[in-house]
Amino acid sequence: PVVLGIESTCDETAAAVVRGASLVSNVVASSMEEHARYGGVIPEIASRAHAESFVPVVSRALADADLDLDQVDAIAVSAGPGLAGCLAVGVSGAKALAWAAGKPLYGINHVIGHIAVTQLQFGPFPDETLALIVSGGHTSLLHVKDVARHVDVVGTTLDDAAGECFDKIARLLGFPYPGGPHIDRHARQGDPHAIRVPQGLTQGRAGLEHPYDFSFSGVKTAVARWIEEQEAAGRPVPVDDVCASLAESVATVLSRKAIAACERFGSDTLIVGGGFSANSQLRAKLAQVGGQKGVRVRIPELKLCTDNGAMVAMLGSNLVQAGVRPSQPDFAIDSAMPMDKI
Ligand code: ATP
Ligand code: MG
Ligand code: FE
Repeated sequence: PVVLGIESTCDETAAAVVRGASLVSNVVASSMEEHARYGGVIPEIASRAHAESFVPVVSRALADADLDLDQVDAIAVSAGPGLAGCLAVGVSGAKALAWAAGKPLYGINHVIGHIAVTQLQFGPFPDETLALIVSGGHTSLLHVKDVARHVDVVGTTLDDAAGECFDKIARLLGFPYPGGPHIDRHARQGDPHAIRVPQGLTQGRAGLEHPYDFSFSGVKTAVARWIEEQEAAGRPVPVDDVCASLAESVATVLSRKAIAACERFGSDTLIVGGGFSANSQLRAKLAQVGGQKGVRVRIPELKLCTDNGAMVAMLGSNLVQAGVRPSQPDFAIDSAMPMDKI
């Protein structure tokens, strides 16, 4: 099927066209620079930017695909999780398009889109597989039985997401929002063992009962305290070493648990998605640990890691192909959509 995907959960207004599992066009407009000086996304500014960008971005995605709206088979839009005002703009726009063109509309889960998008690069999922989602708001391990119908949460962060932890430390170090890529860049020049950073929840809650859960707030606090102590003592903060040590800790615990979950569930493949999967330390560590344990790791190219329309269109394509019924015309946005809803 030919599916138009529309994304507006946070600060990217994006649209893409997918045919089956091939990417035909992919257009992203971001309001990131407007938020940089505030240290985080300002929902009002983001919503207004979506309203301004919606028509141009969707028109461009169709034009790049050399298609008119009446030539697509279905429209998919992120219905959550995300910022309510932002979701409302994208979903209202998508409903209007679907109504006007008489097309089926699928309100999909943005977070599941982050893993579905890997099919565009690596082909269909194995029958059952493990997926690691690492984004600005989520850090979870999923057992994917059928991406169009059923996923189980195997582990999740009990507090902060990995991306959030990076963004908060980045802010302390004076980097603009989003700080993750700045930490990545500085970490490449630093010593990953210069500073002792705890590895959040190496065992899991209550011993081995939840061995695949994560916790990053202790990591964040430990690094923040160390920086404050340096500053209080009038010592310079070795930014590269702080970044490298933080990245080493986070990448290690994510990789170990993700690969251990693959072994536990008998999956020879790990799917990785979400903005934090752009992180080079995580990519290297996953390749290393996966290589040792015979697990193939599928991490998409950078432009498919951060928010985009292709992820939405691809999951929409999966739903159409699986014969899943479209959403009701009056379906609601869900800013806190649970991860096991598709
Ligand atoms: P969610 O998908 O959970 O709703 P989101 O859509 O806001 O959240 P994404 O756009 O998927 O999140 O990812 C953004 C996050 O990715 C930010 O925290 C950002 O710092 C982080 N990030 C992007 N590139 C890198 C990188 N190279 N290293 C570390 N973090 C990165
Ligand atoms: Mg973003
Ligand atoms: Fe996202």
